[in-house]
Amino acid sequence: METEARKENILNYLPEELETVITELGEKKFRATQLFGWLAKGVSDFDDMKNVPAALRTRLAESYYIGLPEVVRKQQSKDGTVKCLFRFYDGAEVESVFMKYEYGNSICISSQVGCRMGCTFCASTMDGLERSLTGGEMLGQVLAMRNLTGEEIGHVVVMGMGEPFDNYEALSGFIRLIHEKKGYDLGLRNITVSTCGLIPMIRRFAIDFPQVNLAVSLHAPNQELRERTMPVARKYNYDDLMKACREYTELTGRRITFEYAVIDGVNDSAACARELASGLKGWLTHVNLIPLNEVKGREYKTANGRSVAAFKQILESSGVAVTVRRTLGSDIDAACGQLRRKKQCD
Ligand code: SAH
Repeated sequence: METEARKENILNYLPEELETVITELGEKKFRATQLFGWLAKGVSDFDDMKNVPAALRTRLAESYYIGLPEVVRKQQSKDGTVKCLFRFYDGAEVESVFMKYEYGNSICISSQVGCRMGCTFCASTMDGLERSLTGGEMLGQVLAMRNLTGEEIGHVVVMGMGEPFDNYEALSGFIRLIHEKKGYDLGLRNITVSTCGLIPMIRRFAIDFPQVNLAVSLHAPNQELRERTMPVARKYNYDDLMKACREYTELTGRRITFEYAVIDGVNDSAACARELASGLKGWLTHVNLIPLNEVKGREYKTANGRSVAAFKQILESSGVAVTVRRTLGSDIDAACGQLRRKKQCD
């Protein structure tokens, strides 16, 4: 493991970059395609790459390692959800969640170890940011989860720990890696990225990846309330965020999803619902209401079922598309960031 700190994670490399690696080792370019294909299959050892010459495998292993994370803890829910705590070569730990839906299997991956956005209801941000992940480490979570569950994974949501737009280069590397035809070949429309609202990156994302789904964590119907739970709102204010989101839908023609964690006595009133509805009326959006996952050490309580239903009804009657997020894996601590913290508390 320590030696890996001096080696490069080969999962970070796109096919054209692997070609450079391979030709510098004096080998033919097509070996890069073979190598990339093996990596996407989730092999953990260069020696498993049967059609790659042994001498090349040895030389690769001298300078590179395959950065599949190690499984530290695995929890399986009755509903098929698998939550995993993964560890990278340097001891950094993140969590990923595998979920079964009617439309297929999905994984929620982390983009950073911890987070520096400071949302006051979120567990991932309690210890700040430890480090960002690389694109290959994001891919590694998908491959390791597929190895672990033995199930194909056709949807990826970047909604685990971290703020993906605070790690934009690595995020875009990940999207290109997993979309690559010669590798995992995941459709762009099967990827969703969730942001707390970093406006410049929303603009950039609309241009770079118009086919990838975007979710924006809103959690409030106005600036004043949003500022109370999301420090990021002080930097990027509500009206500017909504403007950027409208521009996003105009530019891409894609529906935007707004996430709204419903918190008892904070943002769950009928007045909040009406204000949100009037702000969203008539444009291409979808609101995902998430009954708050209560986090140890945070004072917030989840809104009761009745106020969530009333909130939903108000949005619906204004013609705003809305769903209440299905709670998967609630028996295994589904709340964001909780698995990692739980282990730290043991
Ligand atoms: N940083 C990104 C993605 C990570 S969090 C973002 O902010 O969108 C994924 C979603 O879970 C976000 O909407 C986030 O606000 C929400 N979330 C965080 N803690 C939560 C909690 N305790 N209960 C419910 N949702 C929570």
